[in-house]
Amino acid sequence: MFHSAPKLTLISKPVFTEPAHLPVHWLGESSDGERLAEFAGRLCYMSQRNPANRQTREYLENIKRQGHGSVLEHANYSVLAEGISRSLTHELVRHRAGWGYSQLSQRYVDESEAHFVIPPAILDDPALEKSWKSQMETAQKVYVELVEQLMERYSWVADKVHRRKMAREAARGVLPNSTETKIVMTGNARAWRTMLELRSSEGAELEIRRFAVAALRLMQEEAPGFFSDFEIYTADDRREAARIAYHKV
Ligand SMILES: Cc1cc2nc3c(=O)[nH]c(=O)nc-3n(C[C@H](O)[C@H](O)[C@H](O)COP(=O)(O)OP(=O)(O)OC[C@H]3O[C@@H](n4cnc5c(N)ncnc54)[C@H](O)[C@@H]3O)c2cc1C
Repeated sequence: MFHSAPKLTLISKPVFTEPAHLPVHWLGESSDGERLAEFAGRLCYMSQRNPANRQTREYLENIKRQGHGSVLEHANYSVLAEGISRSLTHELVRHRAGWGYSQLSQRYVDESEAHFVIPPAILDDPALEKSWKSQMETAQKVYVELVEQLMERYSWVADKVHRRKMAREAARGVLPNSTETKIVMTGNARAWRTMLELRSSEGAELEIRRFAVAALRLMQEEAPGFFSDFEIYTADDRREAARIAYHKV
């Protein structure tokens, strides 16, 4: 099977429990994650009274403008990402600060029926797709043959789970970068902002850029107070990209 777009599912978000002895004068619409960050920010100055009468999302706008990124670190979001390639996750996991990852293991999981992700630059060009798909099919066929041969070669290994792992970890060497993978990624709102800024920009590789724009939409819907300063636009290369208003180094 071939994938032509990522599938992203938000699987975890903050649940905020306001301490009864420090109530905040909340204003405006907000999610638990946004209220958690506002609560943490207000604690610094004990300004729970909300003297400026700011709505939560106005308050967070000011936090972003001033670059008080640490306040955003309290809110963590987990996303299950599927329909993305191993080359994409190779780049994704370079984002370390504030991130946790768990990715499908090619040593344990049988890839005989692996899926592949069509690189965006190849997508919708019949000739390019044909040539690319034939390479994927060949690689998969060789993978299956290698696993069988390796299972034979190491038939003396009594533990079958271990033998399979030995076979798969060697055979995966012929699987291409385009092999589909799945990853659970958890990051705090500050870490998400940094990753999304870098990977949704025009300089990013096309597949991770498409992924970052999709992730940005998901996060903007969940917690606009953290991501409202990103603007999605169509770049000169006719693909979507995003830019950020409040860049933080
Ligand atoms: C368009 C693009 C092209 C790229 N090309 C390449 C490439 O060709 N080759 C390649 O290897 N990588 C490449 N990268 C990856 C890049 O070098 C970074 O690894 C990646 O963007 C993650 O950034 P980061 O290290 O700032 O992220 P994080 O690890 O999440 O760090 C975030 C921030 O935390 C701070 N920080 C984190 N760790 C430390 C530390 N140990 N010491 C001090 N401060 C720290 C820094 O301020 C850092 O910016 C590319 C990235 C992009 C966006």
